[in-house]
Amino acid sequence: MRQVVAVMGQHNAAFNPVNFAVWYEHLAGINSRLTQALVLAQQTEPQLSDATLARLHQECVAEPDAQSMQQVSQQLQRVMTGVWGSASRAGEQAGSYEGQLNELVQEFKSDTPLSVQPLITRILDETTQMGQTARELSSEVTLCRLEIDRLSHELTRALDEALIDPLTGILNRKGFDQSLAAMVGISPKNGTSHCMILFDIDLFKKVNDLYGHVMGDRVIQAVGDTLKACAAHQASHSVARYGGEEFVILLPDCTLELANQVAETVRQRTKSIKIRDRRSNSIAVSITISGGVAALRPGDQAKALIERADRALYQSKLAGRDRITAC
Ligand code: GH3
Ligand code: MG
Ligand code: MG
Repeated sequence: MRQVVAVMGQHNAAFNPVNFAVWYEHLAGINSRLTQALVLAQQTEPQLSDATLARLHQECVAEPDAQSMQQVSQQLQRVMTGVWGSASRAGEQAGSYEGQLNELVQEFKSDTPLSVQPLITRILDETTQMGQTARELSSEVTLCRLEIDRLSHELTRALDEALIDPLTGILNRKGFDQSLAAMVGISPKNGTSHCMILFDIDLFKKVNDLYGHVMGDRVIQAVGDTLKACAAHQASHSVARYGGEEFVILLPDCTLELANQVAETVRQRTKSIKIRDRRSNSIAVSITISGGVAALRPGDQAKALIERADRALYQSKLAGRDRITAC
């Protein structure tokens, strides 16, 4: 960071997070594409400006927008389908033209003057060649379409994986942010609201201190499984790991009462999680969890919902933990 600040001082650009990120990734040596582009830019502009740093950030640091990537892949697929259609039609037409020519050759064989016969044979050969080329093109395009299909599936998988927390297999913070934005973007159905439950494992630092981080991770996994199981009967509910030992369930079109029941179920099932010591098979850890439930109110932004759920969670902690508070 000291290096970054020193280098930023030598340039014309502002001290802002975007410029910091560019210089940081370059100096830390973690983004070779950026380093190449930055060195190139410095050849014409030794003191980099805000505009150049913003461009470098956009091109080499910012994550590609998932939606645009999907759109590009779909457009590519459409173009290839069009090319494949044209190539197939060209192949079919060449084939039928070749057939007609062949018939003509047979019909006029006896009467065709000798001088014309080589010409007809040449036309026939070239037509055959053209048909062959068109057929090859159409099968090559078919292979390209399959490849684009495969890449497009891989892209979808990669985009999905970027939203999953590897330890628990539930949504990560980024996945949660997307689900929350989607939930808040649609009005709740009549008589319901969009709800959120924020959970935090109680005294988790003790688990790490007493049993180590590996055991701590097993506890986090077990809580993730519990949340998944409690939300499984409602496909619209999404479960995420909000941060270290904090979890969240989003319940679109729900009531505060129902959300409270789901939270209670999670709390009770968490109490019965028993993590065994693999060597002695004795129960090593049992834990409790606190939760805060909140419902979106008219005019609320996503942030207000999180803040309200967080306040409710804080109340649960203050009141002695292992409880759910709704607000
Ligand atoms: P409270 O009841 O007030 O929530 O107490 P707490 O000890 O749970 O509070 P705090 O939030 O201060 O501690 C959370 C601890 O969770 C600190 C951190 O070491 C641990 N932690 C966060 N992420 C992970 C993780 O991925 N694995 C493990 N093993 N521990 C983690
Ligand atoms: Mg915490
Ligand atoms: Mg905690």
